Amino acid sequence: MLRNDQLELWDRENFFHPSTHLAEFARGDAPQRVITGGSGVFIEDRDGTRLLDAFAGLYCVNVGYGRPEIAEAIAAQAKELAYYHAYVGHGTEASITLAKMILDRAPAGMSKVYFGLGGSDANETNVKLVWYYNNILGRPEKKKIISRWRGYHGSGLMTGSLTGLELFHKKFDLPLAQVIHTEAPYYFRRPDTAMSEADFTAYCVAELEALIASEGDETIAAFIGEPVLGTGGIVPPPEGYWAAIQEVLAKHDILLIADEVVTGFGRLGSMFGSEHYGLRPDIITIAKGLTSAYAPLSGSIVGDKVWQVLEQGTDELGPIGHGWTYSAHPIGAAAGVANLKLIDELGLVGNAGTVGAYLTAALRDRLAEHPKVGEIRGEGMLAAVEFVADRESRQFFDASEKIGAKVAAALLAEGVIGRAMPQGDILGFAPPLCLSEAEADQIADATAAAVKASLG
Ligand code: PLP
Repeated sequence: MLRNDQLELWDRENFFHPSTHLAEFARGDAPQRVITGGSGVFIEDRDGTRLLDAFAGLYCVNVGYGRPEIAEAIAAQAKELAYYHAYVGHGTEASITLAKMILDRAPAGMSKVYFGLGGSDANETNVKLVWYYNNILGRPEKKKIISRWRGYHGSGLMTGSLTGLELFHKKFDLPLAQVIHTEAPYYFRRPDTAMSEADFTAYCVAELEALIASEGDETIAAFIGEPVLGTGGIVPPPEGYWAAIQEVLAKHDILLIADEVVTGFGRLGSMFGSEHYGLRPDIITIAKGLTSAYAPLSGSIVGDKVWQVLEQGTDELGPIGHGWTYSAHPIGAAAGVANLKLIDELGLVGNAGTVGAYLTAALRDRLAEHPKVGEIRGEGMLAAVEFVADRESRQFFDASEKIGAKVAAALLAEGVIGRAMPQGDILGFAPPLCLSEAEADQIADATAAAVKASLG
């Protein structure tokens, strides 16, 4: 094995890390960590430090680390057949079985699954399908996609445009012209503190109506949203939000893409977030929890209404001009099959609901009275603590103080990984769905200690 200092040098000299301060990392001013193993909700690094990963990697290792069932399924698939493509009607037992398993679990009205590799490419596929759909229907002007500020849908050209976070646009010449953004359903950051949740929902709806009116509904193809805002701050929607938004979309013949990359396969304590909030999407994006990240795999679940038109399109034009070499990769598909079986066998959807609620309650128990804690929120196995400079006046900290990052660093020193969300001073939690109550207490205790250490 390489010496640590040798590996660290190679890391700084050769490796372009995503979402990293490149200059600080290259200079040796930003931390590095080499992960060597994991079991359950814990990971271990090369120095032997064991950490409770309360963010499940990037909210993706839903069944927890070190599951032999999935590792063995991957190994068996690799030995039998590591690769064959899925073009012109080809498949493998794993990819065909997984498509069936997904549709068996999906909300009503879904028709087929297209497989990709990650959430970004799946959303890229979705936008292409929506454009194709409107072209086949003879509506070439109906192409714009509405996304929400603070939504996260990936970091490609189109998907980075859909993402409503400034960091993903600045200096990349994004967003592209076909993407327009509307109000984030973020009650804690409502424009007027006097608004009730229902008032704020009405405000979000009015903003959406105004945007549609100014652009013209004949130019708008789809609305994309996460059932619960994820990377934008871990924010469950305000009361009545999804029902009211769907009414507007139906009125203007705008498709709904539910981005369930985080919420799919149990994270909210329901199999899908769509089911949790009564969404009736036309397309659903899945990734992360589909394989619990044991292998890269994503999917676009296409609803009946869109599927009919795709079939009509290929009758008119021939085979669909869309596909990746690695679509429905057998190793990813084998991981997916084993992962979905494990989620059922271990009852992880139910556990996400009960232990997730326990975690949010434990955080409230330790921190609700703290003068710098503005809000503690959660849904299923997702939770967030938002920090404020002044609680009464709901005054936020200046971004330059980097409070969120400081608390996350203090939490790491307590042996727990939480995530400083990229916009605002928000500490996010999305542990593996197998979290126990004792582990939830450990997260809450460590968070209370970290907040005390950094904010008094
Ligand atoms: N959509 C959502 C809701 C996500 O949270 C993410 C990633 O965090 C993506 C899409 C993009 O997925 P990927 O990073 O696999 O491209």
